[in-house]
Amino acid sequence: MKRAVLNLSMKIMHTILLMAAIGIVFAADAAAQAQISDKKIAGTGKIEVLWLGQSATRITTVSGKVIVIDPFLTQNPKTPPQYKNLDALGKVDLILVTHAHGDHLGDGVELAKKNKAPLWGPAGLDQSLQTLGLLPPDLAPRMNKSGTITPLGPDIKITMVHAEHSSELVWRNPATGKDETLVGGEPGGFIIEFENGFKLYHMGDTGLFGDMKFIAEYYKPDLIMIPIGGHFVMSPKDAAYATNQYLKPKFAIPIHYATFPQLKGTPQEYIQALGKTSTKVFPINPGDKLTF
Ligand SMILES: [Zn+2]
Repeated sequence: MKRAVLNLSMKIMHTILLMAAIGIVFAADAAAQAQISDKKIAGTGKIEVLWLGQSATRITTVSGKVIVIDPFLTQNPKTPPQYKNLDALGKVDLILVTHAHGDHLGDGVELAKKNKAPLWGPAGLDQSLQTLGLLPPDLAPRMNKSGTITPLGPDIKITMVHAEHSSELVWRNPATGKDETLVGGEPGGFIIEFENGFKLYHMGDTGLFGDMKFIAEYYKPDLIMIPIGGHFVMSPKDAAYATNQYLKPKFAIPIHYATFPQLKGTPQEYIQALGKTSTKVFPINPGDKLTF
């Protein structure tokens, strides 16, 4: 019995040491530690990734810049209650939206206005946001795939890449009270290269496609945030194939599952489908943070 306990504690110690060695730190209580971590992070050479459910992610860069991706928060069933208030994100320097669907554009317009931070998204989506008068042109700048932007300075490079999906913009016309389906551009993913060269690939919503191999070869992402829920995006099996055969990143965070009934895929199924792999998977919960 004692021996079993000892073995277990040694295993736990080993895991902790391993995680420390590769520079990863789990923050158990995101709410309590948010402010502390924000202070710690600036200038420490670390990148913090806070996942808030579905695809919503807050990233704090090495120099303390804050990027929010796909800010579906106030209506997101998986966002922890303390983050349903947009002020809880702290200051936001930049918003990235992968495509026009409501579970990605989410609170983007309000967040952009509140922080006077530009919302970068597919050209067609940002054009519609301008045309509808929802955002002024300076807060809805247009870009497209293969385009690299540096709105936070030359040391942070953001590139839009392909995603296999759709991007309708559904907007409720206040004059009629009825929903209208408008142009939302082409869906994409984002590759962010940080000040220290570390690269994050937030894949947005996507099905499996062969050019993931090209994206891996050309951009060499270290960390992927990969959708696994199925139905609208890759299933765990698809995502495992993409991870092992095409992307081969050092780290992976599974996202876009369990938010709605159709998104049935689980991190456990993803890990099982991966089998023996060189990728370290972090099956974190909404509100958890990782530091790279
Ligand atoms: Zn979508």
